[in-house]
Amino acid sequence: MPEKQIALVSGGTRGIGAAISARLIKAEYEVIALYNQNEEQANNFKRETNVHILKCDVSHYDTCADTIENIQNEYGKISVLVNNAGITRDGFFHKMDRQMWSDVINTNLNGVFNLTHLIWPSMIENGYGRVINISSINGQTGQMGQANYSATKAAVLGFTRTLALEGARRGVTVNAVAPGYIETDMMASIPEKVLDKIIAKIPIGRLGKADEIARCVEFLADPASSFITGSTLTANGAQHLV
Ligand code: NDP
Repeated sequence: MPEKQIALVSGGTRGIGAAISARLIKAEYEVIALYNQNEEQANNFKRETNVHILKCDVSHYDTCADTIENIQNEYGKISVLVNNAGITRDGFFHKMDRQMWSDVINTNLNGVFNLTHLIWPSMIENGYGRVINISSINGQTGQMGQANYSATKAAVLGFTRTLALEGARRGVTVNAVAPGYIETDMMASIPEKVLDKIIAKIPIGRLGKADEIARCVEFLADPASSFITGSTLTANGAQHLV
């Protein structure tokens, strides 16, 4: 393993992803954070943290392939992949059009496939890797108005378990983190009345913080976490106990 491990965090310049990037850089990883549209936020984050940033829409395989090739040429092989990028396009199923469905599938599920598929061979070849997929409580339980989102987040758990089996003898661990409701921009779109109802259902009595998810990722990324694979680490304030 190289002295400085390279970690790639998709959606790594805002919200939970930014907290993950910030933690990993503090833990001495060389961190590359991918973003999609919010260039200003990405540049600010880069200035504040020294995390490298790259624009890459994870839903496009060819764009991901170019990005991964550039990263490997410039920095070396990626040993930690955090599949964090995700979007919501909420609506009751009878009002959910095909675009809302495919946008979410393309980012939250195909995005996970694209990056992992491109990085997996070098992890296997190296005999070392950490893949950490950010799922969601709503993939574990289902949620009204989120048929698309819940489908992707549940699928990510199946993907995690299968890849854990395939990587087990090759030094590559694959785990998921399933956050409960976390204070980020994603939550900002939820009306206050609905938010109050959500908080009332969280036994801890508050939303989670992005850094509380980032510490789960840092733990799973650690070389010493080598016996933990195929698992789902839930961090949800006791809202859903599995
Ligand atoms: P935010 O909306 O705050 O940030 C989403 C991030 O994903 C942004 O950095 C965004 O980039 C990036 N992104 C979105 N689409 C793409 C794309 N096509 N290609 C590359 N990057 C993309 O989300 P959160 O931080 O709240 O969520 C992070 C993850 O955690 C998601 O997977 C989400 O589903 C999951 N999660 C969140 C919960 C919450 O309560 N917040 C609860 C459970 C799970 P850009 O800045 O360019 O827009």
